[in-house]
Amino acid sequence: MKKVVIDAGHGGDDPGASGNGIVEKELTLEISQYIHDRLDELGIENTLIRDSDETIEPNDRVNMIVSPYGSDSDVLVVSNHINAGGRAVKLLI
Ligand SMILES: [Zn+2]
Repeated sequence: MKKVVIDAGHGGDDPGASGNGIVEKELTLEISQYIHDRLDELGIENTLIRDSDETIEPNDRVNMIVSPYGSDSDVLVVSNHINAGGRAVKLLI
């Protein structure tokens, strides 16, 4: 079974998009925590990249995404973003 790495986009000093009272970093965290909890309930091994409002530099984020399972090919990476336009979900593989 695949393992899942869940990345909550943005965070800390990087709020992402905002509008209509919605701040991207807050919504991506909420969505990511939901996915994390649900995968736990289903017994699917997973890692949540951030579980609080913290700043993660881009290179650090990539390392955090890669480090839990190394070069294991049975890993699915989901990076959640709620963009103002274009794609709603960005997948990094
Ligand atoms: Zn974003």
